[in-house]
Amino acid sequence: MSGVRAAAPQLAGLEPYDPKYLPAEAFLSANENPTDVDAALRAEIVREIRKTALNRYPDPLANDLRDLIAEANGLDRDQVLVGNGGDELLFDLALAWGGPGRTFLNLPPTFSVYEANARLTNTAVAEVPRRADFSIDEEAVLARVAAGDIDFAIVTSPNNPTGERAPEDFVVRLLEATDALVMVDEAYFEFSRRTMRPYLESHENLIILRTFSKAFSLAGVRVGYVMGSPGVIRELVKVRQPYSVDALSQAVARVVFANRASFEPGIAAIIEERARLTDALRTLPGVTPFPSDANYVLFRMDAADEAWAHLYERGILVRDFSHAPGLEGCLRATVGTPDQNDALVAGLRDFVMGRCDLR
Ligand SMILES: *Cc1c(COP(=O)(O)O)cnc(C)c1O
Repeated sequence: MSGVRAAAPQLAGLEPYDPKYLPAEAFLSANENPTDVDAALRAEIVREIRKTALNRYPDPLANDLRDLIAEANGLDRDQVLVGNGGDELLFDLALAWGGPGRTFLNLPPTFSVYEANARLTNTAVAEVPRRADFSIDEEAVLARVAAGDIDFAIVTSPNNPTGERAPEDFVVRLLEATDALVMVDEAYFEFSRRTMRPYLESHENLIILRTFSKAFSLAGVRVGYVMGSPGVIRELVKVRQPYSVDALSQAVARVVFANRASFEPGIAAIIEERARLTDALRTLPGVTPFPSDANYVLFRMDAADEAWAHLYERGILVRDFSHAPGLEGCLRATVGTPDQNDALVAGLRDFVMGRCDLR
């Protein structure tokens, strides 16, 4: 046979996820921690990895890591599930709660992976767009779930790429208005310091997503976790790839999680830099930063795509959302080191002033 029949129809028109990674001196595009795991922790990781059997399959459920996470959150092991990055768990959610004849409620603009997962799994997508200031249209969401056909929803808090938290009282009202499974994506929890964790006991339809990729400097390792009710976790276990979290990743994550307190000063520094960066952006004519509770700042400006290119020429890579629906004119910059943030502001100032001169 020459030629091959078409792939599954839901793939038509889907673009593969593209992080738009390009070589640069300052990577401010992927919301990573600008500081890698320090030497002392790295030495401990190496010791742990030396002890790891490579010829054996890993513990499928990463129970040692699960226990550490459960204990830290006052939960039992069966309320926690570890995945190959938060991304795997998002896909598992779509597999387990979506599918043909099922509906996912999305609140765009938000993390694009949610909608892609819904399409891959033939899940219908219902949307309640955010308002112009990116706040959630709470009454519209509650009205939409009242129709009764929503099977699962994702509320991102803080939202990526816009930066603001979902109000706690709204999430509670949503949990109480529906029996749909509501995921609160807390990928940036360590920077917002707010969590829906206290509502897990009272709300069986709540599930919380966290990751090691952002605050804990492990984007290269691929570990995330969810916390939810045992019944929900059991369903997710049915659809997951049995050995998705390899033995080395489990070892690295155990060491990092056990030593998570050592990341606190770095997290506090990023939170301070976030305020300094936001204030500096606000002083640039025509640049409007949105308040952020995460480790990135979204800002809107004229000729944002040209500004992106100007920054990139100077070795600074930020994320260009300027042509994304609802995010027109917006760029997102990860909070970097003080030097990187200064370089970003200087590059933007240069761009904005250059345009003023042209007028
Ligand atoms: C980064 C991120 C995740 C998970 O990332 P992983 O690296 O796969 O753990 C989940 N949700 C949001 C909103 C994110 O920004």
